[in-house]
Order: sequence, then C-alpha cells, then structure tokens
Amino acid sequence: MTEKKVYLDHAASTPTAPEVLEEMEPYFTEKYGNASALHSFGREAKEALEKSREAILKKAGGKNHKLIFTSGGTESNNFALKGLAFKKKKGHIITTKIEHDCILNSAKWLESRGFDVTYLPVDEKGFIDPEDLEKSIRDDTFLVSIIHGNNEIGTIQKIKELGKICSENEIPLHTDACQSFTKVPINMKKDNIDLMTINSHKIHGPKGVGALIIKEGINIEPLMHGGGHEYKLRSGTQNVAGAVGFAKATEIMNKKDIKNMRNLRNKLIKGQLEIDDTILNGPEGKDRLPNNSNISFKFVEGESLLLHLDSKGIAASTGSACSSKSLEPSHVLTAIGLPAEIAHGSIRLSLSKYNTKEEIDYTVEAMKEAVENLRKISPMKGGK
Ligand SMILES: *Cc1c(COP(=O)(O)O)cnc(C)c1O
Repeated sequence: MTEKKVYLDHAASTPTAPEVLEEMEPYFTEKYGNASALHSFGREAKEALEKSREAILKKAGGKNHKLIFTSGGTESNNFALKGLAFKKKKGHIITTKIEHDCILNSAKWLESRGFDVTYLPVDEKGFIDPEDLEKSIRDDTFLVSIIHGNNEIGTIQKIKELGKICSENEIPLHTDACQSFTKVPINMKKDNIDLMTINSHKIHGPKGVGALIIKEGINIEPLMHGGGHEYKLRSGTQNVAGAVGFAKATEIMNKKDIKNMRNLRNKLIKGQLEIDDTILNGPEGKDRLPNNSNISFKFVEGESLLLHLDSKGIAASTGSACSSKSLEPSHVLTAIGLPAEIAHGSIRLSLSKYNTKEEIDYTVEAMKEAVENLRKISPMKGGK
C-alpha cells in the first residue's frame, strides 16, 4: 500500500467541511436542548432549527413551502412516493429507469401493493424524452418522480420542461436532487417542482440528515407517527446539529469552486479517454454534473480496476454504492443501452472542491497503468 490517498467517490459521500463541523459543535456541547422543550435550551435549539429550515428553503427556491427534515435522501424519497400513495387506495406513478435504488425499490414495493408504475426509458445519454412523459400520463396518475442529476452518469434532466408537462396536467412532480443541489442551479418555483429530495452528506454536510420539501397544498401521509414534529409529518426529536450542519453546507458551495471542480473533472475525463477502447457514459458539457466522470474500459473488469486503483490509494466506484456488491450490471448503464460486458468495465470517479490538479494527474497515470496491466492478462481482449 502506498501512503498517498486520493478520494474520488464524492457521489457516494463527502467529507464534512471544517466550517460545517464548527457550526455544528455547540449543538452537541452547549445548545443540546430538545427543540420541542419550552425552556431556554429548547427555544435556543428551536431557533437554530427554524433558521436552518429557512436557509435551505431559500437555497431551494421553495420559500413558503414545507421543509421536512428527515434522516437523508433514502427516507425523503420513500416519504415522497409512499406518502402520496397512502393518500390513495390505487393509482399510477410515473418514474424512470435511472432512479436511485431507494426510488426504484419504493416503486416496486408500491406495485406489490396494487399501484401501477411506469418506468420511463432514457436515450443513450440518459435523457428522458418529454413526449414519453406526456404519453404515459393517465387519468389516475397522481405522481411523477424524476431524478434531477443522475448519481452514476451525471445526466442533468431538463427538469423545467418536464415539470411544465406535469403542472399542465395537474400532477405533482417530485425530483431527487441529492446529487445536483447546490452544484447545479435548481429552483422549485421556477422549475415547476412540487416536491424535492435533498441530503446533506453529498455536499460536505453530516451524514444522516436530509429533507423533503413539499409545495403548499400538497397532501402527504406521514410515515412516522409520534409526537407530531415537523408539521405532524415526521415525528421524532429533531436532529438540530444535523440541520444546522446541512444549512451551513448549502452555503459554502460557490461558483468559483464549482468552476475549478468542473475544469479538473474535464481534465480527468480527457486523460482517461486517451486510453484506447474507452467510452464516456453520459452527456458532455453543461448537461452533466460538474463533478462526475463515468467511463467504460473495454476488455477490463471494473472490480479489478477498482482494486488496482485502491492499491494506489485511489477511491473509485464501479456503479452506485448500493449495487456495487451485486454482480448485476448497473441498471443505469443498462438503461442507456450498454451491453453487460461493457457496463461491467465501467468506473465512476466523482470529485469535490477539495481535489487538486496533482491528484487528477496521479489518477490518470494510475488508470493508464492499471488498464494496460489488466488488458495484458484479459481473456476478453481476444474477442476484440
Ligand atoms: C445518495 C443518494 C440518495 C440516498 O441518500 P442517503 O442520504 O444516502 O440516504 C438518493 N438519491 C441520490 C441521487 C443519491 O445520490
């Protein structure tokens, strides 16, 4: 093992920023009151909680909407789908083939309970065709849920256009914006979004906190019953320190950092594409998350490549963090039409503002060496 460590798996989770940690600290040590308590400790906690709620709502373009703090993206996505479904006995949901597992598995579970679900296909870059959405709408469609920035291939959907179709048909649009929030402009009001899932640990906030933002007038059934916290929609003592950290995290992303990150990412993609027999998965330019690279290396097994990189101290991913233990090719890569053998040779690298040019150069060199070595011994290479 080398000493050098290069973390390029920020789509799975990010380090908590020092300024976030600093902001949170007093809520563990001094201001530890229960936000529902009436004494000064409680009021202090409540005030911090509400300030954080306001700050995040403002960032999301959801002023006057309800922001429900949750334990993260998974809970918020479950809440959006099941919370709206539980208001009905049956009906139809439209989602896509490239959602995060927590949307797909919630949708599948709802299907097992008698709901109908349409999974929209995507083109070879991962985009939904608005016409497909329009054609899938039924009289009993009560929810459309579309991921904003894809966690595997970085595709950013034309959410405003898709939202317009939903609002014209008076169907709420939910979007999973865990990967895009603060990195890419998104505004619930301007972009016709009715419900939005966001989380903290993808943007240098703490793990275990997220939110579902709900437009006024949308009725949703709680999944957690208890003391009636969070507008009676999500009971449980609030994670005040988490909320404070989440709010701080939404403030620290700035345009300059994003631009630098995008430039480094472009360099990383360019370097990897210098290797023969490679394919960039997902779109180029502004339609791609600024920190995402996803490349297929033909005749190479992604897991072997990942382990090679790991031995050089580089943290990569072969797909989404959740599916990386299974042998199935990624559902996202399958949806964009990659054959299984090529999908299996894919590596996602995801940056943050903390990555440096030196790290990117080091990674490209390590990648070139690893791919060359693996191809020398590859039984697949013969099939070229
Ligand atoms: C990480 C992620 C989630 C899950 O969020 P958790 O906070 O880890 O539960 C959901 N959707 C997307 C797009 C993600 O990237």
